[in-house]
Amino acid sequence: MKRILNYINGEMKGPRSGKFLENKDPSRGQVYSLVPDSDETDVLEAIEAAQKAFISWSETSVATRVLFLRKIASKIEQNLEALALAESIDSGKPLNLARTVDIPRSQSNFEFFADAMTQFHGEAFKTDSRALNYVTYSPLGVVACISPWNLPLYLFSWKIAPALAAGNTVVAKPSEMTPMTAFLLSEIAIEVGLPKGVLNIIHGTGPDVGVPLVNHPLIKAVSFTGSTKTGRSIAQSTAASFKKLSLEMGGKNANIIFSDCDFEKTLNMTLRSSFLNQGQICLCGSRIFIQSAIYEKFKSALVEKTLKLKLGDPLKIETDQGALVSEAHRDKVLSYIELAQKEGGKVLCGGKVGKLSGDLAQGYYIQPTLIEGLSASSRINQEEVFGPVATLIPFHDLDDVIQMANSTQYGLSASVWTQDLTKGHKVAQRLEAGIVWINTWMLRDLRTPFGGVKESGIGREGGKQALEFMSEVKNICIGLE
Ligand code: NAD
Repeated sequence: MKRILNYINGEMKGPRSGKFLENKDPSRGQVYSLVPDSDETDVLEAIEAAQKAFISWSETSVATRVLFLRKIASKIEQNLEALALAESIDSGKPLNLARTVDIPRSQSNFEFFADAMTQFHGEAFKTDSRALNYVTYSPLGVVACISPWNLPLYLFSWKIAPALAAGNTVVAKPSEMTPMTAFLLSEIAIEVGLPKGVLNIIHGTGPDVGVPLVNHPLIKAVSFTGSTKTGRSIAQSTAASFKKLSLEMGGKNANIIFSDCDFEKTLNMTLRSSFLNQGQICLCGSRIFIQSAIYEKFKSALVEKTLKLKLGDPLKIETDQGALVSEAHRDKVLSYIELAQKEGGKVLCGGKVGKLSGDLAQGYYIQPTLIEGLSASSRINQEEVFGPVATLIPFHDLDDVIQMANSTQYGLSASVWTQDLTKGHKVAQRLEAGIVWINTWMLRDLRTPFGGVKESGIGREGGKQALEFMSEVKNICIGLE
C-alpha cells in the first residue's frame, strides 16, 4: 500500500514515531494509502529546517523566487491528469471537477503570485523639507499554512504560493483526510530543485500536528482555512503571542433570487452553487431565498433539475455528484437532514443515502437534497452542513430577505439574482458578507480580496492582501535637515 511521506528539509521521510493513519478512498470506502501520523517531533524538525532556510530564501532575489513558483506551476500543468486523479480518489469529488477546477486553479495560484510578487513594492513619501519616509515590506520568517479537505491542492497552494513569493519559509499541513496532492506537491518541489527547508509539508491530525505548529514561537504567522471551531481554537491559543492570523472559516451563504431574475441562468447557477463538489465548498449557497411571486415555479424547476443530477463513480465523466469525504461527514450531513425533518421541514427531493452497486456500495454518497418549510432561524438554516443539502425559503421584499440573510453567525459570501442592478447593488451593500456576487457565482479574480466577516473570517487573502499579510511592513523616516 502506498505510503505518503513528510517533506522536511528537502527530503521525504516517514514520521519519527513510525506511525501511519489509514487514508480512505471515500467513493469506495476502502483504505488505499497510509498517511504519516506525525507529531510534535516532526513539526519541530520542520520548523528548524524552515528557520535555517529562511535567511538565504529571504535574501534570494524576487526574480529567482518567482522562477521557482513558475516552475512549480509548470509541473502542475504537466501533471494535470495525475494530480486530478489523485484529488478525485482522495476526496470523492468528480474527476472532471478536479481536472477543470481544482488542479488548474492550483497552477494559477503559483502563476498568479509569481506575477503579483513582481509588482509588489514599497512606497516613499517626501514629507516636506524635513524628511523622506519610505515603507518596506519584508518577509516574516517561518509561516504556517493549514488547509482543509474540500479543495485540497487548490487551497494548499493558495497559501503556500504567496508565503514563498514574499520570501518566507513554510511549514504546511494539509488535511489528514486528503493528503495525496500535498504529497505530490512535495515531489514537484524536489523535482524543481526548491532549496531545502524552504517548504516543509507535515502530515497528520490537527491535535498532533496543527496545535504544536501554530503554537511554536518561531511561527510568525498562521494562514488557516477550515472550520470556525478550529479557527477559534487557533485564535485563542495564539492570542498571547500576537501572531499574525489569517482565518478563512465556515459559511452559511444566501442565494437571493428576486422575481425579476433571468430565470434560466439563475436556475442553472443555483443548481451549481447548491451541489458543486457535493455542496462541500465554503462558497456554496445553502440557503436559497426565493421571492414569493416565483417561489413555486422556481422550486419545481430546481427540484426537476436536481433529480436529474447523476450520482455515481467520481471517475466517470458523466458523474455530477461524487462521494462525501468520509463516513463521519456523511453521517453528520444525514443527521442534519433528519433534524430538519424533525423541525418540520419537508424534503422535496433526495434526503437519503445514495445507494450504489458493486465496488461503490461502500462509498459515502448522499442524494442531492432540497428542503422547504423551515424558518430562517431553524438550525439547518443557521448551522453549516457542508454537504449536498440546500433549503428553500420564500421572501416578500428586500428588507425581509436582507434581515433573514444576515441572521446567521456567518458572513462569507452571498449571491443576488436580479436584472435590476440598482437593486442588486443596494442588497449587496447591506449584506454582511465578504464577497457578494450579482448574477454570477464563484467567479474569482485572484486580484480581489477574499475572506469573510463575522465568524467566517479574519483578514483577506488574494492579490495584494495576501502578500501584505505574508510581509512585515516597516516605515523608515530619514531626517533631511
Ligand atoms: P477543520 O477545521 O476540521 O480542519 C482544517 C485543518 O485544520 C485540517 O488540516 C486539520 O487537520 C487542521 N486542524 C484541526 N484542528 C486543529 C487545531 N486545533 N489547530 C491547528 N490545526 C487544526 O476543517 P475541515 O473539516 O477540514 O474543512 C471544512 C471547513 O472548512 C468548513 O467549515 C468550510 O466552510 C471551511 N472552509 C472555509 C473556506 C474559506 O475560504 N472560508 C474554504 C474551504 C473550507
